[in-house]
Amino acid sequence: MEECLFCRIAAGEIPSTKVYSDDEFYAFEDINPQAPTHVLIIPKKHIATLNDLEENDAPLMGRLVLLASKIAKERGLDSMGFRLNANCLESAGQSVFHVHFHLLGGRPFGWPPG
Ligand code: AMP
Ligand code: ZN
Repeated sequence: MEECLFCRIAAGEIPSTKVYSDDEFYAFEDINPQAPTHVLIIPKKHIATLNDLEENDAPLMGRLVLLASKIAKERGLDSMGFRLNANCLESAGQSVFHVHFHLLGGRPFGWPPG
């Protein structure tokens, strides 16, 4: 997946501000932050969209959500609240086709989203 922006970021081929990295995940600051905390969390495995998840991705995705919760705690967002958001396909706002979760916090958020 050499042409995938987030695969290249996870591989260190394109610079980013790292928040967390291990064998399975990479987390980094969004280049266009929408809140005081705006971290993107991705599996290093290339999965284009949430539509492409398979049964055997369930443990991986569970660990991804746990990681998001840990990063939120580290930033003191567990008490004030935060949003964990994943967009699927263009009509929902997906612009990079490698599964990612937005961890947003540090300000209030409205609901429903626009
Ligand atoms: P989405 O629109 O849900 O697919 O989210 C893609 C996110 O990636 C957007 O919030 C962008 O600001 C962010 N983004 C795009 N390019 C980069 C980059 N090179 N480094 C960090 N974040 C990026
Ligand atoms: Zn990718």
